[in-house]
Amino acid sequence: MNTTLRQSNLFTKTRKEAPSDEVSKNAQLLIQGGYIHKEMAGVYAYLPLGIRVIEKIKNIVREEMNVLGGQELIMTTLQRKELWAKTNRWEDKEVDVWFKSKLHAGGEVGFGWSHEEPIANMMRNYISSFRDLPTYVYQFQTKLRNELRAKSGIMRGREFIMKDMYSFSSDKEEHDEFYSKTIEAYKRIFKRIGIGEDTFVTFADGGSFTKFSHEFQTIVETGEDVIYINREKNIAINEEVLNDETLKELGVTRDELEKVNTAEVGNIFNFGTGKCAELGVEYKNEEGKKIPVWLGSYGIGITRLMGVLVEKFSDEKGIVWNEAVAPFEYHLIVLDNGNEEVRADAERLFASMETRDISVLYDDRDVRAGQKFADADLIGIPKRIIVSEKTLASGEYEVVARATGVSTFAHEQELLND
Ligand code: ATP
Ligand code: MG
Repeated sequence: MNTTLRQSNLFTKTRKEAPSDEVSKNAQLLIQGGYIHKEMAGVYAYLPLGIRVIEKIKNIVREEMNVLGGQELIMTTLQRKELWAKTNRWEDKEVDVWFKSKLHAGGEVGFGWSHEEPIANMMRNYISSFRDLPTYVYQFQTKLRNELRAKSGIMRGREFIMKDMYSFSSDKEEHDEFYSKTIEAYKRIFKRIGIGEDTFVTFADGGSFTKFSHEFQTIVETGEDVIYINREKNIAINEEVLNDETLKELGVTRDELEKVNTAEVGNIFNFGTGKCAELGVEYKNEEGKKIPVWLGSYGIGITRLMGVLVEKFSDEKGIVWNEAVAPFEYHLIVLDNGNEEVRADAERLFASMETRDISVLYDDRDVRAGQKFADADLIGIPKRIIVSEKTLASGEYEVVARATGVSTFAHEQELLND
């Protein structure tokens, strides 16, 4: 991905008015800023600016998955009915988000809403002995889910990007160790993305395999979930498992807990040996005995995270990205008013930044200053560099922080050494 871009070359345009068919703040601002395009309810296209944010988030996640020893792959979107029938997850009464279709050649297929079954089934080809374990695989994939409601913009899509990792371990101890390591990796991810303080490892329903699963829930007013937290004890409980038994087990009382609205940004799940036993994913131990493999599954909602960031970090003028995920580090704005020297100075600065691989969007368009500022506020790049007659005269550029509006002044060398 190029580190620099001229805004005159960007095909997207900002919009003054929020789209009337969109109730969520994240989708409104992202559409207005030219980050996404709404195809239909819950289905969005990601445009050049949008992809840059997605890639930043993905790269943070990818780095941490690689630290865990994860190996990246991409599974298929089309999935076999027969495989999901084996584990009793094909029927709509079992899984209510399936999109399904029929093959002209005969037979039914489903569109991947999750990938435990196909990944575990595929791994039968590669796991046969204890020497093949543990092993960890992950992917970034567009999941399709027939969600009933789609009013939260990209926080709940019918088509959305998820990172899903799967662990295959030989016994409980090996499984538990990796599970704990993943919790730590997830904490690092959310911290790096800028929501560490507001993201809680939350006790949630564990389904049929374990008592609890762990959700990563981020406080956001418009989130669809409700959890109960105690910051001092660092305990968070999803309302779905809030009962006397859970409280007792975790050593808190109801009145020590604060109720907050959240969005689930990640979820980790222990399948025990159940899923692999159903699918016949087994290995031979040192004595030659066949044993089913322990499976863990670990999701992160990549596009949901982008939506959560917009919900949490925006003001009446637009989006406020932090540097870790912003589409560009700098927004270079030339206010030349027809003054050729000012224009030439901005062009020269842009060229110098380009050669140093500094991430910058250059607003070289011939439009009014007011429009440039309004667009820059909406797009939300963290640092704005202004080149004008004033800065040319003083020999220093004005650098404005999007988050605070505070101006500082910097010589060219300071900017280039950044
Ligand atoms: P939810 O309860 O919000 O529907 P889920 O329990 O169905 O989530 P998982 O199947 O565990 O979610 O998926 C892993 C992650 O993918 C979630 O933690 C969430 O961040 C993200 N995710 C799930 N559904 C959606 C969706 N419809 N749109 C965007 N992201 C989603
Ligand atoms: Mg769901």
